Amino acid sequence: MAEVVTEVVDVAVLDRWLRGFAALVGEQRDELTRLDSAIGDADHGTNLHRGLTAVVAALDEGAPFDGPAALLKQVGMTLVSKVGGASGPLYGTFFLRMATAAGARGTLDGQAFAACLRAGLEGVVARGKAARGDKTMIDALEPAVDAFETMLAARRPLDVALRAARSAAQAGRDATTPMLARKGRASYLGERSIGHQDPGATSAALLVAAAAEALGASGEPGGSGRAAG
Ligand code: ADP
Ligand code: MG
Repeated sequence: MAEVVTEVVDVAVLDRWLRGFAALVGEQRDELTRLDSAIGDADHGTNLHRGLTAVVAALDEGAPFDGPAALLKQVGMTLVSKVGGASGPLYGTFFLRMATAAGARGTLDGQAFAACLRAGLEGVVARGKAARGDKTMIDALEPAVDAFETMLAARRPLDVALRAARSAAQAGRDATTPMLARKGRASYLGERSIGHQDPGATSAALLVAAAAEALGASGEPGGSGRAAG
C-alpha cells in the first residue's frame, strides 16, 4: 500500500510547522543561548523561546485562520513584537514576506510553498544585508531553499524535498563554525568569532527541520535537527 504523503501545505500543516519549531526551540533553548554566549550576548535561546511561546498562543487565539497568508502574517507580527534583538525582526520579516507571497491561496502546492520560502529568504537578506558566508541564519536558510527548489524541479515529492532542505540547512549551520562573522553582534569580535557555530544558523536549521517534520519527513538522514554540532 502506498504511503500517505501530504502534497499540499495548508493552514493545518503551517500550524504543525510553527508548533514543531516552538517545541524544538524549547528543547534547544539553553544550547542556543550557550552558542550566543560565545559570540553574542547570550540571549538567542531565551529571545526565540519567548517569541515562539507567543506564537503558539497566537495560533490558539487566532484559529480558525482564513488561509495560509492570515496565519503567516500573525506569526510574523508576533515574532517582530515579541523577540528582541536582531533575530526577531529578521524571523518576523521571513514570515511576513511568506504571507505576502502566499496571497489569497487556500492551499500551497510545492511550487507555491517554495516561492513563499524564497520570498521570506529575500526579505531577510533585504532587511539584514547579510550574504552567504557572513556567519548568520542566511548560511542555513539559503542552502535549504536552494535544495528545496532543486528537488521540486526534479519532480520529487514535497516530503523528500523538505528532507533535502533539512540536510542542507544542517550542513550550512555546521559550515558557520570556521567562518568570520561579518554581520550582527558576532562581527564585533572579528577573528575571535572564528571557531564557534552561529546561533541564528542553528535556530534556522531547527526551523527547516520542523518544516520537514510537519510534512511527515521524519527519521534519518538528518535527524531532528539537533542544535549541537
Ligand atoms: P542579537 O544579536 O541582537 O542579540 P539574537 O541573539 O536573537 O539577536 O540573534 C543573533 C543571530 O541573528 C545571529 O546568530 C545571526 O544568525 C542572526 N543575525 C544577526 N545579524 C544578522 C543579519 N544582519 N542578517 C541575518 N542574520 C543576522
Ligand atoms: Mg543575542
